[in-house]
Amino acid sequence: MTEKKILLVDMDGVKADYYKGFCIEWAKRFPDRPIVPASELKTFYLENAYPKEWEQDILAITRGKGFFLNLPLIEGAAEALKEMDECGKFEVYLCTAPDVDAEDQCCPGEKLQWIEKHLGKKWLKRTIMSTDKSLIHGHYIIDDKPVMKQSVGPMWKRIFFTHAYNKDLPGPRINKWSEWRKVLLPDLPWAV
Ligand SMILES: [Mg+2]
Repeated sequence: MTEKKILLVDMDGVKADYYKGFCIEWAKRFPDRPIVPASELKTFYLENAYPKEWEQDILAITRGKGFFLNLPLIEGAAEALKEMDECGKFEVYLCTAPDVDAEDQCCPGEKLQWIEKHLGKKWLKRTIMSTDKSLIHGHYIIDDKPVMKQSVGPMWKRIFFTHAYNKDLPGPRINKWSEWRKVLLPDLPWAV
């Protein structure tokens, strides 16, 4: 049994820049349409951030082949993952929900390819995919989703990765990867 704390780390919006990837594709396909700046994105679900008549265009991008594979890496994400893993305090796992509505079920495979490309092959065996993260054992989870599915009371304590759509919610948070130590290493009151 390890003494280390199990730290789950989400991918989309935490390691992979989901919204930036969307904006790049949106601008390519619809150069005449506006883009909501990330700093003003008030809703987690992109289809709610844009006019209703564009919903299918949005989903065609985010559920299309190649979308997950081509997401940019969030600044400092790879370095922080390595540092958290090597600091001796955490057993780190990637914990991500696959988009089961993506075309031809391409999402899980593309996520694995993305991990190998940006984070390294060793993380493939430390990847957990679940559409319900409350079922996964862990002490902490770093995630950007404002309201997470909880079919059971999760064992983990959530730490937000800050975006405009979660910035007003209470709880510990990492604003950018360069500051992970400040949040995760001290014996804070919320520590398990
Ligand atoms: Mg996420």
